Amino acid sequence: MKKAFHLSVLTLLFVSPQTEQVWTANIDQIRHAARMIPGKAPLRINVLKFAESRRTKNFSVKGAPNEPSVQARTVFQVVYGDGYVMVDSGMDQQVHNFFGRGVVEPYDAESARQVERAVRGARAILVTHEHGDHVAGVIRSPFANELASKTILTRDQVQTLLTNPQMPEIKLTPEAAARYNVVDYEKYLPFGPGVVLIKAPGHTPGSQMIYVVLASGKEYLLIGDTAWHMDGVRNIKGKDAPWIQENENALMAQLNWLNGLYKTEKNLFIIASHDDEQRTDLIKRGILGNKLE
Ligand SMILES: [Zn+2]
Repeated sequence: MKKAFHLSVLTLLFVSPQTEQVWTANIDQIRHAARMIPGKAPLRINVLKFAESRRTKNFSVKGAPNEPSVQARTVFQVVYGDGYVMVDSGMDQQVHNFFGRGVVEPYDAESARQVERAVRGARAILVTHEHGDHVAGVIRSPFANELASKTILTRDQVQTLLTNPQMPEIKLTPEAAARYNVVDYEKYLPFGPGVVLIKAPGHTPGSQMIYVVLASGKEYLLIGDTAWHMDGVRNIKGKDAPWIQENENALMAQLNWLNGLYKTEKNLFIIASHDDEQRTDLIKRGILGNKLE
């Protein structure tokens, strides 16, 4: 009897969440995956900011001073010779207002219209994660059905949107969920020539990073909200925002990995969705285009 009891306790410990595997990724494997699908590599990446939220910097980077900071709301466009893929889909003003929590924050209607147009014209739409500011543009669009058929969501993203959405506005019904292209993968998924999805749960269960290598050889890692500001990567500091729930262990492993790449890979640009200073800088340097095509 006693022995059996001990065994069952051991079994429990063994499968408990504390023993979950630490997140890892390998840039060489990712580069290899980027060459798996034949075809011409993408030519450039554009970014468009359509709204902003004001959060003091200490929320984005733990331990940073309590000074004003802008969180850009953005989408990215990966342009091939014969079409383009959107990374994230924007959001309508109602969802934007949710993030303001009672404060009306800047929303550029003309830029938002350009995002809508680009999303409709895309060959495919990927999302870094299942939060409203990244996915509402496909879920709440008047053209939601048309967009769903060319949007790729991961199983984890769909699961959150069905059962535990960030806000009621983006909740998916099972009928709506069935219209999307749903994928599941272990670590890396070659998406197309030069583009690889990297599973990175942490900020949300369905978070992923998107690696892109252009025909020119320039490399990009669109890290979504893994860090809200690149100081999080530079200093290996997580966020300090009480209104979000993250898997801190996974996130720290991701920030560590990104920090290593940041220091050694001078041709690889790690891009945080909401870092407004980085966006301005990379546009100025010609690393990102400043308009959607
Ligand atoms: Zn976000």
